[in-house]
Amino acid sequence: MEVTVLGIAQDGGYPQVGCLKDCCAKARDDPTLSRMPVSLGLKGTDGSTHMIEASRMMSEQFGLWSSLGNLDWPPSSFSLTHAHLGHIDGLGLLGREVMGLSGIKVHCSESMSALIQKTPSWEIMIDQGVIELVIWNSTGPFEPSEGCGFTITPIPVPHRSELSDNHALIIRGGTRSLLFMPDQDSWSETLVGDVDILQWLRQMDIDIALIDGTFWDYSEISNRDVTEIPHPTVTETLRRLGIKGDKDPEIHFTHLNHTNPLFDERSLQSEKLVSMGWEICKEGSVFYL
Ligand SMILES: [Zn+2]
Ligand SMILES: [Zn+2]
Ligand SMILES: [Zn+2]
Repeated sequence: MEVTVLGIAQDGGYPQVGCLKDCCAKARDDPTLSRMPVSLGLKGTDGSTHMIEASRMMSEQFGLWSSLGNLDWPPSSFSLTHAHLGHIDGLGLLGREVMGLSGIKVHCSESMSALIQKTPSWEIMIDQGVIELVIWNSTGPFEPSEGCGFTITPIPVPHRSELSDNHALIIRGGTRSLLFMPDQDSWSETLVGDVDILQWLRQMDIDIALIDGTFWDYSEISNRDVTEIPHPTVTETLRRLGIKGDKDPEIHFTHLNHTNPLFDERSLQSEKLVSMGWEICKEGSVFYL
């Protein structure tokens, strides 16, 4: 099966609305620098397609995905990690005002499902048969559609839960597995027991991990209260990881805030990360599992 990266930016996208600083001004001048909110496109061994997250930029994400080869559209299912803006704000595109789809399975946790059911603009899509909520069992794997040739396993991950809880998702194909963890509050809360990041990934048998790289360090957001938007910084994660060893999984940083120097491949920060053996997630990359 194939996993295609359809976005690597934090919820606000890049450039971000209202930011007049250099970080976003240069992406407005050169639209090839712009990036979409995190999302993955999954193609099963039976050709079925599935999305992780429902972003408002789904039209552009569809454009990117379909430019890479034959695409069975609409997708059979969506799986949602949590209810923050960029992960769910495109759900309405499935409804009558836009694509007018029907019977699209939306896999999510019980708390996400409760939120969707009590939000009028989403509830109406259930009543009209546009979406069908499928609540996952928070510990075991599920097949997003029968015969797709891969499974998804939700892993609970602590992250500001004002609206819903949050899950990382493990996608397991026939030969390899990929972890998608765009948001977390801190490593100390995510890592259960006395394990480090690499041990934790090994325990879950992960070959490729796409993890929260929102901020390079907190100096980027000196005008915001970091307790409002906690994420481990990339500098902290690199300190915990050290230099990549031969048998370590691939780690790709994603969910980048507009202020993050990792958007620029030639920045000193990007060079440092790559020199340690780790990677920056790229839109349009395809992983074969
Ligand atoms: Zn997010
Ligand atoms: Zn900016
Ligand atoms: Zn979030």
